[in-house]
Amino acid sequence: MALKFYNTLTREKEDFSPIDPKEVRMYTCGPTVYNYPHIGNYRAYIFADTAKRVLLYEGYEVKHIMNLTDVDDKTIRDSQKEGKSLKEFTEFYTEEFFKDIKSLNILTPTKFTKATDYIDEMVNIIKKLLEKGLAYKSEDGSIYFDIGKDKEYGKLVRLEKKITVTSECALENPEKRFGRIKSDEYEKDNIQDFALWKAWDENDGDVFWETELGKGRPGWHIECSAMSMSNLGESLDIHTGGIDNMFPHHENEIAQSEGATGKQFVKYWMHNEWVLVDQKKMSKSAKNFYTLRDLTDKNINPIAYRFWLLMANYRTRVNFVWDALEGAEVALKRLFRLYKDLGNDIGTVNVKYQQKFKEYLEDDLDTPRALTILWDVFKDENMSNADKKATVLDLDKVLGLGFENIKEEETPEKVLKLVKEREDARINKDFKKSDELRDKIKSLGYEVKDSSDGYKIEKI
Ligand SMILES: [Zn+2]
Repeated sequence: MALKFYNTLTREKEDFSPIDPKEVRMYTCGPTVYNYPHIGNYRAYIFADTAKRVLLYEGYEVKHIMNLTDVDDKTIRDSQKEGKSLKEFTEFYTEEFFKDIKSLNILTPTKFTKATDYIDEMVNIIKKLLEKGLAYKSEDGSIYFDIGKDKEYGKLVRLEKKITVTSECALENPEKRFGRIKSDEYEKDNIQDFALWKAWDENDGDVFWETELGKGRPGWHIECSAMSMSNLGESLDIHTGGIDNMFPHHENEIAQSEGATGKQFVKYWMHNEWVLVDQKKMSKSAKNFYTLRDLTDKNINPIAYRFWLLMANYRTRVNFVWDALEGAEVALKRLFRLYKDLGNDIGTVNVKYQQKFKEYLEDDLDTPRALTILWDVFKDENMSNADKKATVLDLDKVLGLGFENIKEEETPEKVLKLVKEREDARINKDFKKSDELRDKIKSLGYEVKDSSDGYKIEKI
């Protein structure tokens, strides 16, 4: 079976074939570093990581870029609130983000790109759009994308263009059909010309760049067009993100990028669905969100969240409840225990299970079915422990649950000392003392089991 992905652009599952067969070029919209991302945001990164791991498992080389939005309306607003420079403020949350993705076992992208390092590239794209007549400068010096000039605008989210002639707009330019919006975020029923470059105003404080376009800063959407194309070329294979980024962010990325280059920007658009809380969308504005810190405060391993998400297809909505997450953690602990019990030897990967596992994942990342293979391997009575271990480690290249990090806990020094004393007592045939020591060891949570070839210490 060939690898198939659901392409949001065509609304169909398609065979995956990269533009360059040697290397898949993939871009993921990363976080806006103004706060701790909530666990709903992390679904997007766990999903992108899973897609990437599947590509690697299939033998592809993957060049993966993830951006860090370190300048936009929100980072400026909140850095000012805290009285910090934009750099100091965003660097703090960038570091926190790095810690979080590590705890979720997300593979580090080939490169993280910071928006503030790509201002020149953004200016160049905007210049091209101005030259082609797809963008215009407004009276305050800001530059907007003219969606009325883009016949394909709305193709990703399939918008019916609404003609909204405002009197102000009509007076200024009778040919213009759309109003304009400076804010980075807005709703689908409010489509307007969006800001590519925002002329400086006093709310921006000391955040601005002096460029050929004037004094100002970029809009959010142009950042991703510049960072993706600078690193991956004008046409990329895969662009991932949360479904909430489809509009306006991704629609605008397509308009800007394809407007500037005349080429198809992205071959496969992939979006993950929402995480709901009480059937409502988890969001910062609704204040119904949890961060990874809420999980660790409850002593829940963040990997349990990854595991819980893998139990659902990335394109289905999931409703977050603590009971479900705690249930996932119990199941995960059980898997880890089963793995520990396999011993130390690593045998060979079972090809039959590997094939089945691949087949499920090739069907648009069917992780719920792929997970059943993991349980099947543990349950298989005809496989040796060593082969089970090799197979589990192989499957985990995609699942990312971290089996390779599980080590037998070391027996405490104190217990080892008592075990030694007990052994001496036994050799001296002092069985009373030997029994007393056995009880003492037991009270510390360990058990000594005698066998023909010595003894074994086990945790109770
Ligand atoms: Zn983006």
